[in-house]
Amino acid sequence: MKYLILGNGVAAIHAAEAIRSLDSQGSITMISDEGCVPYCRPMISMVLEGSITPDALPIRGPGFYRNLGIEAVLGERVTSLDVVGSQVMLGDGRVFGYDRLLIATGADPRPVKAENADLDSIFFMRTELDVRRMLEALPGARSALVLGGGLVGFKAAYGLLRRGLKVTLLIRSEYPLSLQVDETAGRLIRDELVRCGLKVRVGLGVRAFEGNGVVRAAHLSDGSTVECDLVVIGKGVLPAVDFVPRDRLPVDLGILVDEHMQTYIPGVFAAGDVAEHMDVSRKTRWVNAIWPEAVQQGRIAGMNMAGRRVVHRGSLSRNVIRIFGMDVMTAGWVNPPPDEGFDVLHHTDCRTGAYRRLVFRGDRLVGMTLVNDIEQGGVLMALIQQETPVPKPREILLGRSFQVGQLMA
Ligand SMILES: Cc1cc2nc3c(=O)[nH]c(=O)nc-3n(C[C@H](O)[C@H](O)[C@H](O)COP(=O)(O)OP(=O)(O)OC[C@H]3O[C@@H](n4cnc5c(N)ncnc54)[C@H](O)[C@@H]3O)c2cc1C
Repeated sequence: MKYLILGNGVAAIHAAEAIRSLDSQGSITMISDEGCVPYCRPMISMVLEGSITPDALPIRGPGFYRNLGIEAVLGERVTSLDVVGSQVMLGDGRVFGYDRLLIATGADPRPVKAENADLDSIFFMRTELDVRRMLEALPGARSALVLGGGLVGFKAAYGLLRRGLKVTLLIRSEYPLSLQVDETAGRLIRDELVRCGLKVRVGLGVRAFEGNGVVRAAHLSDGSTVECDLVVIGKGVLPAVDFVPRDRLPVDLGILVDEHMQTYIPGVFAAGDVAEHMDVSRKTRWVNAIWPEAVQQGRIAGMNMAGRRVVHRGSLSRNVIRIFGMDVMTAGWVNPPPDEGFDVLHHTDCRTGAYRRLVFRGDRLVGMTLVNDIEQGGVLMALIQQETPVPKPREILLGRSFQVGQLMA
């Protein structure tokens, strides 16, 4: 059996390990445009802030490929995929055939639509190379502009603040983390960001950048200007599918896969940030672009590729985020549309600044936001994931002292 894996991130390596655990004879080839061993992508911001060095990033040693008998083709980009002829083409003209294919190419940062976005010192923060380039641009930089009020934007802003820069965080929506929390939690987060020294501007985008080769300022949608020697764009991601023939392999928010992580084409699988799969809480297809989901999907894809039928019940959005001095935990569908039969319970503890918001559909918990008090968050997440009926009164879940045994006997 000839296995071909596109990508070298966490979904790809878990797939490769799963395949090898079930098939010691088949050939495995991994192709990635990054030229390094697999590393912990969420930790690249720690290199930016200076709390770790790049040598702490790898998640597998240099012997990884050799030990598993994998042919690694690194530093090369896949440019096209022929699902009829079962082969992929690389930028350098090489062609690789396959019996089973895994697409685990992750996601690309969403570009910003603004004039002069190609000036120097305007960065994305997706790869360790992005961070190395940022570090090279740091000497001499005094002020930074970070676009995007999500996880990547926070991590970039925190890192740059720690490096002594004056940082402005620009957010298109009215409050930070708007895709993951409600307005009350968003305002608590914004207050924390401001308290820690960030300048936060909401409801605005960038119209154009200005500079003589290197960025010096950004002109905003309200006509104002922010001076900056460095810009980080953290406005979300798009699945990395530019080589995928969309007429044959359907792509919506990501590449559509079934419960075996297989696409519409037998023998072609997808996993991780690039894949769109059933979401447990939404009951619809969704891309949950998070690390633990990529691990699980990669592993399940690998097992199915090697012939063991394993089902993925569905993915769940979940995250614990430390935003400066504040802990925020979210899971499931936290912002469902109003008037569609969801019940929302919330509680604010004015003394501690803790905030809890729980979303129910019928007797099931489908979403949660915990701010400043994440105690029992794991139990609540399990209730969502396992779709456990929650007995009344459900308000007890707003406190931290409910009995787990009564809920999940
Ligand atoms: C700064 C940052 C912080 C994050 N923090 C968190 C966090 O706190 N918690 C969390 O759960 N998640 C976090 N994430 C998200 C997490 O890193 C991703 O969900 C995870 O890495 C996805 O893994 P993957 O294997 O699907 O894709 P990736 O890790 O993106 O790997 C895909 C690989 O395929 C390569 N590739 C893409 N296109 C091609 C092509 N055409 N040809 C060849 N190779 C290609 C890519 O270069 C890459 O090496 C963070 C991400 C970033 C960027």
